[in-house]
Amino acid sequence: MDERVIVRFAPSPTGYLHIGGARTAIYNWLYAKKMGGKFILRIEDTDAERSTQESIMGILDGLKWLGIEWDVGPYFQSEYIEEHKTAAQKLLDSGAAYKCFCTKEKLDQKREQARQEKRDTKYDGTCRDLTPEQIAGKETRELPFVIRLKVPQDGGSVTFEDKVYGFIEKRHEDIEDFVIVRSNGQPLYVLSNTVDDIHDGITHILRGQDGLANTPKQILIYRALNAKIPQFSHMSLTLDTKKAKISKRKHGEIVAVDFYRKHGFLPWAFVNFLVLLGWSTSESTQIFTKDELIEAFSFEGLNKSNSIFDVRKDDPKFFTDPKAISINSHYIRNLPIEDIFPFVKMELKKAGKWDTSFDGDKREWFLNTMDLIRSRFNFTTDFVTLGRAYFSNDFPINEKALKKNILKHKTLKDWFPMLANTLEAVKIFNLETSEQVIRDLAEKHEIKAGILINGIRTAVTGQAVGPGLFDVLVAIGQERVVARLRKATDYFE
Ligand code: GLU
Repeated sequence: MDERVIVRFAPSPTGYLHIGGARTAIYNWLYAKKMGGKFILRIEDTDAERSTQESIMGILDGLKWLGIEWDVGPYFQSEYIEEHKTAAQKLLDSGAAYKCFCTKEKLDQKREQARQEKRDTKYDGTCRDLTPEQIAGKETRELPFVIRLKVPQDGGSVTFEDKVYGFIEKRHEDIEDFVIVRSNGQPLYVLSNTVDDIHDGITHILRGQDGLANTPKQILIYRALNAKIPQFSHMSLTLDTKKAKISKRKHGEIVAVDFYRKHGFLPWAFVNFLVLLGWSTSESTQIFTKDELIEAFSFEGLNKSNSIFDVRKDDPKFFTDPKAISINSHYIRNLPIEDIFPFVKMELKKAGKWDTSFDGDKREWFLNTMDLIRSRFNFTTDFVTLGRAYFSNDFPINEKALKKNILKHKTLKDWFPMLANTLEAVKIFNLETSEQVIRDLAEKHEIKAGILINGIRTAVTGQAVGPGLFDVLVAIGQERVVARLRKATDYFE
């Protein structure tokens, strides 16, 4: 029987959750779900100087927002340092590692000399074969030492099959006896990360491409500890339209998952988008429910070629990715309205435009209105900006719409109050009656219905476009429509 799949996401909490990290987490989570396995969240906080509590909170919040749930953790690498040290001792005891007493000055000097003579600059193995007596002698003098892994000198190599990058081979002679414990006793990341993965029984490692260079060294540690080597996969890079690596320095906030939350993305839409950034199926489908994605996902679909994230050419800090936007708007326009409700509620709350009746006696009206206006929306924030007039009397008017649909037609100054009076007199205010009244008026006074319709739309919603006007009027309601038309004469002042 196959062993149970155990995967992990192991972020270093030195910044916010960025899109690359989120992708790593999502792929691992999907794989665990698909295989009925376990997904561990391990915070790699051993770099005490760069790790922050704020970053840890940001990572956890970001994952929760995305809906990525871990089965185990979060646990913290720093709590397992003793275990990393024990592993180093085990390697010393078995002769797979050795103490190196070379001073930094001596090493720098040798490296410089090798560089000048155009020789290999890797560690020359001075301490590799010290006798027990020599070691004891140095220890009695309390000379500081690092611990290095003894890379076999057998002409062999480390090989592995990366699920994305394929067969990889690194000759032992090209790997120096690398340090696994510093002279202050602190284990190095390459050791801690490996020991944790062994401890956690990780079966599949899928991580960012930067892990690829470390993998041969880590495999040497697995071998030296007689541990089972997991399956490795490394994700390709994400580049911008100009082929620059996506980075905080160059792209600012748009590399952070939080940016998309604030921007009005639905979490699942963003997950759907991120997954497609570097993974594909043979089918042309772009929209996946959670179950569909779990079903479809495999490491084989991960692309070796780098993925492209669209940003504005003249300003790389400006997010424009059309695929991200189209996926989000698909969800905004098609999900059951109840599923979007909590997000719109949150946006309205943030904007100070939430009314408890929207979740009380006006709930049905609220949901119907959301449904009516969403067909042109891309983001949850659009409900508060473009859709504000439906939920609040305090809404901005689009300047262009004002000029084109109101100010250009001076006669509207007289028509607005007249329309207001007529609409106010309507007994049963619905689609048919509101349309009837407006069309009759236009006909009687020989004005183009279009001018009235556009003028009214702009006066009551502040926008030039939107759903059919009569639907709009019914959604906003007789009383508010009348009041807004009366007030619209002010625009001519
Ligand atoms: N802590 C590493 C990082 O955040 C992860 C390395 C790994 O997944 O093995 O880049």
